[in-house]
Amino acid sequence: MPSKRNRQPKTTDTNSTTAEGVLKLMYEQGKAQFGSAMKGFWLYTDDLCPACLKNSAGEVNFQGEKALSINGFMYRERGILIGYFLCEICTLFIHEHAQKHPYQETPLHTKIETNLKEAYQRHLSSLN
Ligand SMILES: [Zn+2]
Repeated sequence: MPSKRNRQPKTTDTNSTTAEGVLKLMYEQGKAQFGSAMKGFWLYTDDLCPACLKNSAGEVNFQGEKALSINGFMYRERGILIGYFLCEICTLFIHEHAQKHPYQETPLHTKIETNLKEAYQRHLSSLN
């Protein structure tokens, strides 16, 4: 569920810092559960939503409130937990789908995973 945020404008930097903190907690929990299979975490901070690659990712209007919803994807082959935001349209799509078909992944999830893996590879090669 998205966490409720106050209505003051927040900069992307603040969002990233908050998101890093949340992601770190998710990582610690995963580490407790999966041990050494979890090797690290990384926050996807590109402007574009990793699901549609069209809209900007970040704050969404959720039930009348501005919300920042961080999602986590476990890149198993690498043991990396990738945190990401979606745009409003994709967030609502996934939320609605989850209400109708709980525990079922949408075709969007496949796209998200592919795009996140590619983004992570790009990130790795940018380090070299
Ligand atoms: Zn989107």
